[in-house]
Amino acid sequence: MYNKKSLKAEEFINNNEIIRTLDYAEKNKNNISLINDILEKARPKKIGKETHCCGLTHEEASILLACDDESVIKKIYSIAEEIKQAFYGERIVIFAPLYLSNYCVNGCIYCPYHYQNKKILRKKLTQEEIKAEVIALQDMGHKRLAIESGEDSINNPIEYILESIKTIYSIKHKNGSIRRVNVNIAATTVENYKKLKEAGIGTYILFQETYHKETYENLHPTGPKHNYAYHTEAMDRAMEGGIDDVGLGVLFGLEGYKYEFAALLMHAEHLEAVHGVGPHTISVPRVKKAIDINPTDFDNGIDDEVFAKIVALIRIAVPYTGIIISTRENQEVREKLLKLGVSQVSGASRTSVGGYTQEERPVDTEQFDVSDQRTLDEVVQWLLQLGHIPSFCTACYREGRTGDRFMSLCKTGQIQNCCQPNAIITLKEFLTDYASKETKKIGEAFIIKELEKIENQSVKQVLENNLKEIEKGKRDFRF
Ligand code: SAM
Repeated sequence: MYNKKSLKAEEFINNNEIIRTLDYAEKNKNNISLINDILEKARPKKIGKETHCCGLTHEEASILLACDDESVIKKIYSIAEEIKQAFYGERIVIFAPLYLSNYCVNGCIYCPYHYQNKKILRKKLTQEEIKAEVIALQDMGHKRLAIESGEDSINNPIEYILESIKTIYSIKHKNGSIRRVNVNIAATTVENYKKLKEAGIGTYILFQETYHKETYENLHPTGPKHNYAYHTEAMDRAMEGGIDDVGLGVLFGLEGYKYEFAALLMHAEHLEAVHGVGPHTISVPRVKKAIDINPTDFDNGIDDEVFAKIVALIRIAVPYTGIIISTRENQEVREKLLKLGVSQVSGASRTSVGGYTQEERPVDTEQFDVSDQRTLDEVVQWLLQLGHIPSFCTACYREGRTGDRFMSLCKTGQIQNCCQPNAIITLKEFLTDYASKETKKIGEAFIIKELEKIENQSVKQVLENNLKEIEKGKRDFRF
């Protein structure tokens, strides 16, 4: 039976409830008066100086997803843009993945790390190699990483991951530093989540891949990842272990997108109901070509239009959750999705183990083909030219603004008073230390314009002072 407060995977991601939802959505997809009510509910409301948004349930959002009416889709897009603007402004947070090891004991059919893949070169970074990778990432200007690893308790035990995190945080090269390490490793125990928390991680990210149990078991035929319940209940264990920022995700293409979408929102509702805080981020990867992997083998691929609609509806349904888009997607797709709700992008990513220290983009250990291969400077310049503020901010987590504290600040819009100045400060650091001449010129002019928009005079004064100090060589100011 469906119970969003249950801690059992099959009760909070309940198959019957998903089927009922999809059926109800299909029956009501042309019910214009119901659709208008849902759109009205989703719209941000001004109460005094604050903007409020109540989000949508999985059922409401599924009705909108089922609706093909062009005018409704336009309204969905415009509400998503409105929410994006109200809560995130023009800020886009930038990060890079760091692949530590591609040794893996699982048999995931869609992933090139699967243990039977003899075509991929297996590699695990030593601490010295990690140091070199981090220096290369710092030299580009990165401040925030997501570490990635295959599942293998012999080659990549939790001690290896913890030691790697310590190494990453310890490196201070020139003016560089990695200030937030997010972690994307396989589902693990409460004890291990506690250790990750103690190591000072930011978000714990784990993609569900597919919420459909039978499909999940077929796609993960062997290895520890085969266990659907253990994987699906991982975020509850992570939260029990003290990690309050967790990142969900679905690998689109494996199962029907309407099923995944409803289940993903049910997962978010479950976390909110049980732990009082929803997911910090949601990622929306699509299956890509990789060594020994052909995306056309999976017949649930979604086109760019459906993909955009999903992103816009996630923005509307969970207004306070960050949406992440990786370099799996090309520049054009990323550009469209930025407007509709994406708040974080990866830049200059290399998905091969040890890829950042090699001159040529290596492909023999790669996890998937990278569509957007631009440099970080190019990504920053692109964002600025589109009117976005590229942000390398990591302040919230370092100031203890995580979990429900972050969410409540976010919900009252107060986060804006920190995020905007912090984005400007970290952009200034990037421009001073790493940018090309052209990017620096565009960025400095952009900062002047952004300063003019700040209404709170005391915030403005402190910020202007910080910017001057950065020019003199000081770093790491934050609100
Ligand atoms: N090993 C970890 C686990 O079991 O969750 C996660 C690390 S894995 C490097 C990160 C993610 O890459 C996976 O969760 C999966 O969604 C995604 N991935 C795997 N194969 C992919 C492919 N062919 N195309 C796009 N993304 C893929």
